[in-house]
Amino acid sequence: MMSDAGSSVLVERDSPSKPEKKKTKYDVVIIGAGPAGYTAGIYCSRARHDTLIISGILPGGQLMNTTDVENYPGFADGIMGPDLMITMRKQTERMGTAIIDDEVIDVDFRHKPFKILTASEEYECRAVIIATGASPKKLGLPGETTFGGKGVSYCATCDGPFFRNQEIIVVGGGDSAIEEGTFLTKFGSRVHMVHRRDQLRASKVMQERAMVNPKIQFHWNSEITDIQGDQKVQKAILKNIKTGEITTLTAGGIFVAIGHTPNTKIFENQVELDSQGYIVLKDHTKTNVEGVFAAGDVHDHRYRQAITAAGYGCMAAIDVDKYLTENKA
Ligand code: NAP
Repeated sequence: MMSDAGSSVLVERDSPSKPEKKKTKYDVVIIGAGPAGYTAGIYCSRARHDTLIISGILPGGQLMNTTDVENYPGFADGIMGPDLMITMRKQTERMGTAIIDDEVIDVDFRHKPFKILTASEEYECRAVIIATGASPKKLGLPGETTFGGKGVSYCATCDGPFFRNQEIIVVGGGDSAIEEGTFLTKFGSRVHMVHRRDQLRASKVMQERAMVNPKIQFHWNSEITDIQGDQKVQKAILKNIKTGEITTLTAGGIFVAIGHTPNTKIFENQVELDSQGYIVLKDHTKTNVEGVFAAGDVHDHRYRQAITAAGYGCMAAIDVDKYLTENKA
């Protein structure tokens, strides 16, 4: 657990005679710098709360791995994911939010002020917004990295329209896979559902809808063993787990929909999590710990969109503002 070390340290400036005291106490600390974290920062700073964002190891979150974003309002011609996140960051900084690119390694929400520990620093604050997001589970194939943003995707809503009239593969057998596969039939010439078993985990109604969709073809007991292409994805190698048969599927897009992992490891034993590790909200954005709020994919496994995460960030900041106003230090 965290130590009770002092809450501020002395850091040397250019001139050794003028040491600058590094700021480590804030009204609000936001953990995570995706759309939820940045939006929360904008609203907290505009409400005149002294606000710090600790960005984590991938500032900008999942959109940093995305190419065109066409469904975030305000950009008539679309925008590249990293450009959107850099713009959000600049806007957040302009509002006065401090941003530190560091990783939180531990937290202590059992006592107030709350303590947040990075590898190099300990911060104190009166309120926390957890906005650490979730990470899509990966197949673990080298081709996933090689073709990330070049045909391999983890979000049909985001990337489906880029695969018009192409063959598309969807991996998984849960609600996400079936939902995404069905959605992708709007764009693709055919959708190949690749599932490792011969039974779907998805709800019956969604299964039935997919089964009668003429554009969907199921490949049971199958796994992808390789993703191949030149500049972009061109095909996948499939192995039938039962028979060992190897086949090749031509496809321009491969959507991996095998679930998400919420980034909540450091919050175990600090806030209530559900059986899958998502933060449980009690009342709007409040967690079970007074003064600790959550926003975005870290609690929301239903919508998982940049715009909904941003909306939750706004809600959490408004809830924090009310909390801090009612609980003056
Ligand atoms: P999920 O229910 O955990 O399903 C994951 C699927 O991926 C399973 O079919 C699993 O196969 C497969 N899988 C897991 N790891 C794999 C691997 N390494 N290689 C190949 N396949 C793998 O996840 P989800 O579909 O994302 O759903 C998560 C939660 O959100 C669920 O509670 C779901 O009901 C809910 N959800 C609801 C809706 C809706 O109601 N509209 C939409 C989306 C999600 P096995 O079946 O063999 O384990």
